Amino acid sequence: MEEIRSRYGQYAALFGREVDVVVNRPLGSYPQGHANSQPGKRRKRYPVNCGYIVTDLSSLYPVQNGGGRGFDVEALPPRYVYILGVDEPLETFRGRIIAVVHRNVRITPPENGAPLPQYSYDRLIVVPEGVELYEPEIRHAIAFAERRGRYRLYCMYEKSCGAVVYTVHDEEPLYLLIRNRSGHIGFPKGHVEYGEDECATMTREIREETSLCVTPDLSFREEYNYVLWGVVHKRAVYSMARFAFGDAVTTMENEIFGDWLVPFTEAKKLLSYDNDRRILTLAHERITGQAASPDPV
Ligand code: ATP
Repeated sequence: MEEIRSRYGQYAALFGREVDVVVNRPLGSYPQGHANSQPGKRRKRYPVNCGYIVTDLSSLYPVQNGGGRGFDVEALPPRYVYILGVDEPLETFRGRIIAVVHRNVRITPPENGAPLPQYSYDRLIVVPEGVELYEPEIRHAIAFAERRGRYRLYCMYEKSCGAVVYTVHDEEPLYLLIRNRSGHIGFPKGHVEYGEDECATMTREIREETSLCVTPDLSFREEYNYVLWGVVHKRAVYSMARFAFGDAVTTMENEIFGDWLVPFTEAKKLLSYDNDRRILTLAHERITGQAASPDPV
């Protein structure tokens, strides 16, 4: 966790930065001199525009110890980029950096056994102004060139979806709150996975975290943003979801460290953050303003 946090600190100055890119591998072109371009081999085109940055980023990039190798890849600002969020071939491009692909490079030791440092290098994800992409979409878009498990992705944007999960007993709504691994008390929620819409993420996360099968009410949708470690812009989206009173709640081991099924006033006190209290209040108004409906079957 500490390593991730400190890398985010390292990349903070790059995120959101506007850069100019020269595209040397346009979307739809064939790799030059690649086995794929030989006759008889299956030829794959670049599915995104790739290029290199011409904006000088050296003042933003930390210089690190070269490990005695004389040439330190990490000391150089990253140059190569994937341009996402554009579906036509480009020659040049101006956009914003929203993520860093941090690759681990394995070096085969030379025959004389001289020690070599392990090193890594970075590629940047650049998108048009106003485009926000999250980790699953970025991983999917660069899968043609980056092997899973060989890199870590540091993204400027994160999105989680969850719900105000409740049941009704004796006409009183009871709210389900959880304490997650970061230690605060809130609603069940979690990160969006590739191809999911908000409802799919929310119902999957509730099932994983609490084992409940809920009936979502998507007509309620509230969101807020917060910033993690001063770097990552996180968006949390909530709807409401009801479960049948008496359904057992079994929380996910190693992820959830406490759960409460409590009335509104107690839930409001338990919640750690004001933005969650606001959402709870709105949901409570909605629920109590509605005619009491029977439990879902
Ligand atoms: P997810 O459930 O989305 O997978 P997570 O457990 O990885 O999330 P968060 O719940 O976003 O992470 O918590 C990460 C950090 O953000 C923690 O330090 C936490 O205290 C802070 N945080 C969480 N919720 C809020 C909030 N509603 N407002 C402000 N800060 C928050």
